[in-house]
Amino acid sequence: MSTAATETHRNRRPGRIHVTTVRRMQRITPRMVRLTLGGDDLSEFSSNGSDQHVALYFYEPGVELPRPFTTDAARALLPTAKPRLRRYTIRDHRPELHEVDMDFVLHGPDQLASGWAETVRPGDEVIWFGPSPAYPVAPATDWTLLLGDETALPAIGAILEELPPGHRVLAAVEVADRAEEQPLPTRADATVTWLHRHDRDHGELLREHAIALQLPDGRGRVWGGAERGVMRELRHHFVHARGLDRADTHLTAYWTQGETQDSEV
Ligand SMILES: Cc1cc2nc3c(=O)[nH]c(=O)nc-3n(C[C@H](O)[C@H](O)[C@H](O)COP(=O)(O)OP(=O)(O)OC[C@H]3O[C@@H](n4cnc5c(N)ncnc54)[C@H](O)[C@@H]3O)c2cc1C
Repeated sequence: MSTAATETHRNRRPGRIHVTTVRRMQRITPRMVRLTLGGDDLSEFSSNGSDQHVALYFYEPGVELPRPFTTDAARALLPTAKPRLRRYTIRDHRPELHEVDMDFVLHGPDQLASGWAETVRPGDEVIWFGPSPAYPVAPATDWTLLLGDETALPAIGAILEELPPGHRVLAAVEVADRAEEQPLPTRADATVTWLHRHDRDHGELLREHAIALQLPDGRGRVWGGAERGVMRELRHHFVHARGLDRADTHLTAYWTQGETQDSEV
């Protein structure tokens, strides 16, 4: 079960370097693999819950890492060996087992993180910095709208698990097809809509669905994660066409069409 963000400022604990190993791999849908990463290093992992994410570190093969590999050691190495960074969400944290789950969309065997996730083996070392601050789960609004493509499914799943019983939630997730749907347990009063992309362009269905949505009465807030252009359009839509307070919209570019994440981090 995900760790609930209940303590004061819990969603803002600072991150640090973590050195973990792959414990298990599980193909949860045809295009998504769950990696369980663990180790003694996670005995003091400070979870921020919700949509917290980490930056995975990919060093060039052959780079000798000093041991123990700490945040200071990573910083000292920067002038000679700069890692490529890729952002991934912590889908679940089991503190008693010193392990976390991360879910990887398999969008291409030649892509850095996606290709790595397809070929990784138990015992492989995985280095990451995190966690990031997280979306506050205790809602001050009457309802919450969650919008995302498959890259945001881990965050949407974690947020749904933490939202309080009875809170009204609409969620819409765009995935390739029906086989990519997955269970999203929650105690909230949630209606989840799956949008099957099939031959349509990434984000088209999500955009159309969000713009046509009949929103509940009262004050609401919107969380979203998907391709950059789609998030930009929806941010504009909710603030300017629907009149939501900018502070109640939290729409994040999870990836950018035609660009690697090297250009973003
Ligand atoms: C805060 C945050 C949390 C995230 N959490 C997750 C997560 O939990 N799980 C997850 O799978 N992803 C997650 N992502 C998205 C992930 O970081 C990107 O998809 C990333 O680009 C993948 O790196 P890569 O090395 O595989 O591809 P890159 O080298 O970055 O990109 C290579 C090419 O693939 C394209 N591309 C990238 N992602 C996709 C995609 N999903 N579908 C189609 N084309 C794509 C790019 O446009 C580029 O042309 C998250 C992103 C952010 C910002």
